[in-house]
Amino acid sequence: MQRIAGVLEQVRRDCDVGARRSADPVGAVHEFAGPLDQEIVALVAACIAFGNVKTIRAKLADALARIGPSPSAAGDAPSALQSRMRGWKHRVFLGQDIAALVIGARAVQRSNGTLGERFRADWEATHDLREALARFTDAIRDAGSLHASPGGRRGPAHLLGNPRGGSASKRLLLYLRWMIRPADGVDLGLWPLSASILLCPVDTHIHKLARNLGFTRRADLSWKTAVEIGAALARFDPTDPARYDFALCHMGMLQRCPSRRDAVRCDGCGVMPVCIHWARGGAP
Ligand code: SF4
Repeated sequence: MQRIAGVLEQVRRDCDVGARRSADPVGAVHEFAGPLDQEIVALVAACIAFGNVKTIRAKLADALARIGPSPSAAGDAPSALQSRMRGWKHRVFLGQDIAALVIGARAVQRSNGTLGERFRADWEATHDLREALARFTDAIRDAGSLHASPGGRRGPAHLLGNPRGGSASKRLLLYLRWMIRPADGVDLGLWPLSASILLCPVDTHIHKLARNLGFTRRADLSWKTAVEIGAALARFDPTDPARYDFALCHMGMLQRCPSRRDAVRCDGCGVMPVCIHWARGGAP
């Protein structure tokens, strides 16, 4: 366990935070100054974080240019925002879905002060991360009318995931990481909650690495898998179990882990000294 902890710390130290932040959707959040705008921009960025990261960043930049310099103010003018978002599209999401998300998030801000205050209340009422997230997303979904119509498009319901459905809720956990982890040049530490409540957002990169480090044997991207990986990471830092997520995820993106012993593709992988594929076969 000490060996894995040392390797994870080294991966974190080796991460070129400046370069990787500018290649990550969270980079856009840092371009805004006020916390009300930042928490809305982060929500939009996290909710569309599907697929190729370059495409996500381009679609996010287009959406933010349409939303305008103050997303919280834009949420107070629903008709104008809906009109500016017309023509925007990313996967199953249309501009009208993004507008509804911003309008819903802004309504929750108006009722609670900030989105962070709303989430804090949901956490304190439940002390259950999944249920707190579900209540938080319910509030935004209801306020923005982000519901799928019967027989309609998947976009509106899919944009803001539902943690009760059993998926790993990667996009929502990513949002929480950005908002709650202490400010470190990537995460913003905007919300008054302990980072100990977080789970690592499990995407395909983190899932592969977690399996190769022996943190889980589960093959699905489910909430149960996220909890299992979170419990393994909490052994290294119970106060901050999502601490290694950014560095590991970006290393996974660059490494394109083959999940098998491959001298070429594994070359330079920071976790090779503790990867199960290399431990079984000995040193290269
Ligand atoms: S050493 Fe290779 S198989 Fe193991 S985690 Fe790194 S890239 Fe993946």
